[in-house]
Amino acid sequence: MEDRFRRTVVKHHMLEYDDHVAVAVSGGKDSLTLLNLLVKLEDRFPRSRITAVCVDEGIDGYRGEALELARIMCTKLGVEQRVVSYRELFGTTTDEIAASSRGQTPCSYCGVLRRKAINRAAQMIGATKIATGHNLDDEAQTILLNMLHGDPMRIVRSGPILRDPRGMFVPRIKPLYDIPEKEIVLYAYLNGTEFQSVACPHGHEALRNDIRSFLNQMEQKRPGTKYTLIRSAEKLRNESGNARLPKLNECAKCGDPTTQELCEACVMLESVAV
Ligand code: SF4
Ligand code: ZN
Repeated sequence: MEDRFRRTVVKHHMLEYDDHVAVAVSGGKDSLTLLNLLVKLEDRFPRSRITAVCVDEGIDGYRGEALELARIMCTKLGVEQRVVSYRELFGTTTDEIAASSRGQTPCSYCGVLRRKAINRAAQMIGATKIATGHNLDDEAQTILLNMLHGDPMRIVRSGPILRDPRGMFVPRIKPLYDIPEKEIVLYAYLNGTEFQSVACPHGHEALRNDIRSFLNQMEQKRPGTKYTLIRSAEKLRNESGNARLPKLNECAKCGDPTTQELCEACVMLESVAV
């Protein structure tokens, strides 16, 4: 698994020898494994630097434990940690959004705000890359989700590395995107990594859960299904050239890059503020 991780980093030219990498660490198995692997790799590059970025979404009885596990791991590995919260950045929390969203799952808000929070934290510390712990299962699910949401161009615009030649956002890398979730769990256990295993009380999107079960069934019947999906997405990306670069403006409210007048996060924050 360590070899595959390194091969993915090299194949997609994810890192430079002097990168300052902001690793998004949630306290779950994926992000803690990613941090472990990146620290091992960083040891070979004295001019590189790693900072763990943790986001406190404000989820009572859940996020506290994860942040503590992240803190313990950072201390063990000697990695600097930066915690940012939805409260401090956006003036609200996921619990408050859940209470005001009339029974809808808050995940769609929470996911968009987390991306923005990680980006903010990366800019604050002057990071040159953001690394996230998305694994093969996450990626395969997202590809199908985008198809079922009628948004195939999102598949084309995403991928294991998101560079921005316009320099409007910090490039994002997913060094675990080739590794199945099961292998990450096993690796974490074998390394004695203590990770959060309880689920978020707000739950996940229902559609993603259905897709997860479907893909797991398919994988059992036809091993390699998940790999085939991500390879199909790679072919689409290779064929579609400039389609990956929509025109970006500055969000009229927060200044972040967006294809609309307001960015997705500002639209969402406005809708829950009413
Ligand atoms: Fe946020 Fe949903 Fe994840 Fe909970 S499950 S942390 S609400 S995205
Ligand atoms: Zn905005």
